[in-house]
Amino acid sequence: MKPGVEDKQKSEARPSALELAVMAADVTADLRWVLDKLPDGVLFMDREWRITYANETGRAISRLKPEELNGPTHWELFPAAIGTEQEQRYRRVMEQRVMEELEFFYPPFQIWVHLRAVPISSGIAVIFSDVTELHQAQDEAVKLTTELQQVFEATSDGVAVLNREWRYTYLNRRAKEILEGDGRKLLDQSLWNMFPETIYDGSPFVENFYRTMNDRVATTFEAYYPEPFCRWFRLEAQPSLDGLVLFFRDITRSKQYEAELLAEKAETERQKAELEAVYRTAPVGLALFDAKEFRYLRVNDRQSEVVGIRPEELLGMRIEDVVMAPAVPNLFRERVAKGEAIRDMLYETELRTRPGEVRSFNVNYSPILDEAGEVRAISAAVLEVTQLRKAERALVQSEKLAAVGRLASSISHEINNPLEAITNLLYLAQGVDRLPEEARSYLSLAQDELARVSQIATQTLRFHRQANKPSRVTAAQLVDAVLNLFAGRLLNSGIHVEAGYGTAVSILCFENDIRQVLNNLISNAMDAMRTGGRLFVRAHDAVNSETGEAGVKIIVADTGTGMSSCTQRRLFEPFFTTKELNGNGLGLWISRQIVERHCGRLTFRSAQGTLLHGTVFALFLPCESSELQA
Ligand code: ADP
Ligand code: MG
Repeated sequence: MKPGVEDKQKSEARPSALELAVMAADVTADLRWVLDKLPDGVLFMDREWRITYANETGRAISRLKPEELNGPTHWELFPAAIGTEQEQRYRRVMEQRVMEELEFFYPPFQIWVHLRAVPISSGIAVIFSDVTELHQAQDEAVKLTTELQQVFEATSDGVAVLNREWRYTYLNRRAKEILEGDGRKLLDQSLWNMFPETIYDGSPFVENFYRTMNDRVATTFEAYYPEPFCRWFRLEAQPSLDGLVLFFRDITRSKQYEAELLAEKAETERQKAELEAVYRTAPVGLALFDAKEFRYLRVNDRQSEVVGIRPEELLGMRIEDVVMAPAVPNLFRERVAKGEAIRDMLYETELRTRPGEVRSFNVNYSPILDEAGEVRAISAAVLEVTQLRKAERALVQSEKLAAVGRLASSISHEINNPLEAITNLLYLAQGVDRLPEEARSYLSLAQDELARVSQIATQTLRFHRQANKPSRVTAAQLVDAVLNLFAGRLLNSGIHVEAGYGTAVSILCFENDIRQVLNNLISNAMDAMRTGGRLFVRAHDAVNSETGEAGVKIIVADTGTGMSSCTQRRLFEPFFTTKELNGNGLGLWISRQIVERHCGRLTFRSAQGTLLHGTVFALFLPCESSELQA
C-alpha cells in the first residue's frame, strides 16, 4: 500500500476515558505517572506547538530527547510533517477544538503511525502508536492474494470460490471460460442456479459439495454434467474459511479416450478368444514347432486326436517321436528352415501310437520369422486324408465291380435265349428214336449241367438288379443262391461246405442286400481258409432276446485263421482290412448298415488257438421288420 494517510471515520470517533481525563485535567503528577506506564505514546503540545510532555513510549516512537521538551516547536522537530494531512488535522484540533484520528506514514522514520489528537486546555494532546508491523502484515497479505490470483489465472484448471451462501465470490479465467461460455455472469450468483432438477437428484455434485461445505472435508470426484455442458468434469472441493474452493477440469476428451481404449481392449480380447476357440476346435490339426528340433510348442485338439497323444504330453515331443517315416520331415525341414512355405504335401507314414497302419496326411508348413528375418518357429496345418485316399481307391474298385456286374448281367441276358434254345434242342434230341442208350445218358448229363448254367445266369442277373421293394424269401433260398455262385471257388480251394436249414419261415427283406451280406460273410470265410477247411452254413428259427421278435438266425462259421483282438476291435470300421490290396475293408461296414436297416443283428466270435481256430458270424433277421414296408 502506498505510504499516505488514511481517514479513520473522524466524525464517529469518540474520546476514550483516558482521553477525556487528559482533556479535562491539567497533567498532574499522578496522571503523568499513569501516562508513563501506557503502551501508547502520549504527547502534549501548548498553543505555540511546543511539546510540553511526552511519555516514555511517545518519546521512543518520536525519537524525542528529554532536552527537546519545552524548547523547539513540533514543526521544528518534525519538519517532514509540514504541509501534510497531519499538520492540517493538528491545526484543526488546536483551532476548532475537535478530535481527529488518522493514520499516516512518516518517511524520515519509515514508520506508520496511528494517532488521535484531542484538544486540551493548554493546547492539544496526541495519543499514538507505531502500526508499521500491522501495515506490513496487511501488505504481505495483499501481495500474497495478488500472487495467488495470478497463479489461479494462469492455471489450466478452473478455480471458483464460493461463500457460505453458495455464491461465487471468485472465478478464475479458465472457470469463466468453462462456465460462462454462454455469456452468463456467475459472480455473486448462487451455484445452484446452474443445476437443473434433473441433475440435482442423487447427483455426485450435490452430494460432494454439501459434504465439503457442511462437514468441512475435501472431496474429489468425477462426474458428467449433461445439458448445457455435456461434458465430464473432474472436481476437487476444498473447504475454505468462508465457504469452499472448487478446482475443476474438463476431462471429456480423456474420458472418451479411456472409453475408446476400453472398447478397443474388449474387442481385442473378444477377437483373441474367438481365434483361440477356432484354433482349438478347428477340424484341421494345427501345431507350432520350434525351428531347431521340431518339438511341439503348441497343438490343437484335432492334432492331438490324430496322433493319439494328449496335448499336454505332446508338448515338448519331437516330431520323430510321433511319426515313423523320418525321411520326409528331414526333407521339408531343410526347406522350411530356409524360410520356404510348403503347401499341400502328401505325407504317408505310420504313427508310433498305431503301428501297422499307414496314414495319409496333407501337410502344410509355414515358417514364422522374427524381426531379423530368422525362422523362429514353424506352424503346421495337417489334414488327415487316409479315409479320402482309401475312398478314392474303393471308388475305383467299386466302379470296376459295377462295370463287371453290368457286363455279367448283359451277358447273362444275352446267353439266356441261346440257352433256352439249347435246352429245347436237347429235349428234342432226347426224344429221338433209336438213340443209343449211352448218348441218351450224355444228353441227360448235358441237360443237368445246362440247367446249372441257366440258373447261375438268371441269378447273376437278379443279383445285379436293384430291388426297391422288400420281398419274402426263406433262409435256404438266400444262402443257396450265394453258395451256388461260389460253388466252383469253394471246390477249388479245398473247402468243404456243410449247409443245413432248420427253418422254412420266409422273412421280409431286401433280398439283394441280404445276399450281399451273406456274400461278404462267405467270401471273408473263404479268405480266411487259404489252405482249405470247413465252412458251416446253418439257419434256424430264432427270437430276438431283447425285443422278443420272431426271426431267423443264419450262422456262417469257418475253420480259418481267426482274428487277433486288434482286428476284432476294428473289423466294422470302414476301410479296415488286413488283406492289403486284396481287400477294401468295406464289406463288414456295409453289411452292418444293411443289417441295421433290417432291424437285425450281426455278431461274431473268433479264436486263434492252435487246435481251435476259426470264426463264427451270426446274422439275426426278424421275420417282419417294422422299418421295411412290403
Ligand atoms: P475286407 O474283406 O475287404 O478286408 P471286411 O470288412 O469284409 O473287409 O473285413 C474286414 C477284416 O475283418 C478283414 O480284413 C479280416 O481281417 C477280418 N475278417 C472278417 N471276417 C473274417 C473271418 N471270417 N476270418 C478272419 N478274419 C476275418
Ligand atoms: Mg470282406
